[in-house]
Amino acid sequence: LVQAIGIDIGGTKIAGGVVTELGEIVAERRVPTPTGNDSEAIVQAVVTMIRELQAEAPAEHGQVVAAGVAAPGFIDAAQSTVYYTPNIPWRNEPLRARLNSELDLHITIDNDANAAGWAEFRFGAGRLVSDMTMLTIGTGVGGAIVTEDRLFRGGFGTGGELGHMRMVPNGLACGCGAFGCIEQYGSGRALLRMAGEVADRGGDAGRALADVRRANGTLTGHDVAALMAQGDAGALEALTELGTWLGQACASLSVILDPQLFVIGGGVAQSGELLLAPIREAYRSHLPARGFHPEPEFVIAELVNDAGVVGAADLARVHAKAI
Ligand code: BGC
Ligand code: ZN
Repeated sequence: LVQAIGIDIGGTKIAGGVVTELGEIVAERRVPTPTGNDSEAIVQAVVTMIRELQAEAPAEHGQVVAAGVAAPGFIDAAQSTVYYTPNIPWRNEPLRARLNSELDLHITIDNDANAAGWAEFRFGAGRLVSDMTMLTIGTGVGGAIVTEDRLFRGGFGTGGELGHMRMVPNGLACGCGAFGCIEQYGSGRALLRMAGEVADRGGDAGRALADVRRANGTLTGHDVAALMAQGDAGALEALTELGTWLGQACASLSVILDPQLFVIGGGVAQSGELLLAPIREAYRSHLPARGFHPEPEFVIAELVNDAGVVGAADLARVHAKAI
C-alpha cells in the first residue's frame, strides 16, 4: 500500500493533498498563489506544502512514494520543465530540478488539465469508458485526451493542449502568442467578456448585468454565476454563446479522437446543464456524418475542485512505480 502527494498550481490558489491508491484525499492543504507571479515564491510555497503533507500523511495508508505537481501550461516529455504558461509568465522553468534540490522525493510535473482528466478517467466521470476527452473551463481552456485507456501526451510531451486550437481565423489574440484560439471563445475570461458585451448592448436582456457592473465597477465570475443561477436572460445568453463555441470545437475533436465521452470541468462547469445544453446543441449541428455513427455523451466532471490534486498524485505514483 502506498500513497502520493498531488499539488495543483492555479492562478488564484495552490491546492495539495495526500492521495491513496484509490484516489481518496486523506490530508489536504490550500494557500493563495503568491501574487506578482513570482516563480520563486510559488516554488517555495509548493516545497512547504509538500513537506507539510509528508508530515501529515496518515501512516495506515502506507509510505508516500512520490509527489506530482500540476501546472497550467506546456510541459516537456520528461515531465520536468514547464516550457510555457499562457496565463502566468513561466518560460522554460526547470520546475522539477528546483523542487528536487529541496525535497527528497520522486517528483513529476504534469499539465493541470491532464492531471484533472486522468483523475476523472480513473476515479470520476470517465471510469467506465476507454476513450474520453476533457475540457477544463477556467481562466484558460485546458484539454486532456485519454485514448485506448492511456493518457495521450504527444511526441514532445505537450500534446492535448486543446485550448489553443484555432477556432477563428485571425481572431482574438491569445496568451500563447497565436490568434483565434478556442481559449479566447470558451474560457471563463471569455464568458466575462461576452457578459460585458451583452451589458454594453443595453436593452432588457443586459439590464441586470449592466446594473451589477455599475454598482461594483466590474463584472466578476461570481456575479455572472449568481445571475445565471437566478435565470437572468443576459447571463444565460453569454453562457449559451460560450457553449456554442465549445460544442463546435468538440465536433471537430470528435472526427480526430472519436471519444465515447466528453467531460467538461473547471470552475465554469459548475453551471452544469445550463452549459451542457448549448454545447450538445452546437455539437449536433456541426458533427460531420451526423446520424451515421455513434455519438458521445457530454457530462460535467465529478471530482470538481479535487481533480487536479488527485490526478497529479496518481500520475506521479504510476511514474514512480515504473522506474
Ligand atoms: C494552458 C494549458 C492549461 C489550461 C488550463 C491553457 O492556457 O495552455 O496548459 O491546461 O490553460 O489551465
Ligand atoms: Zn492560444
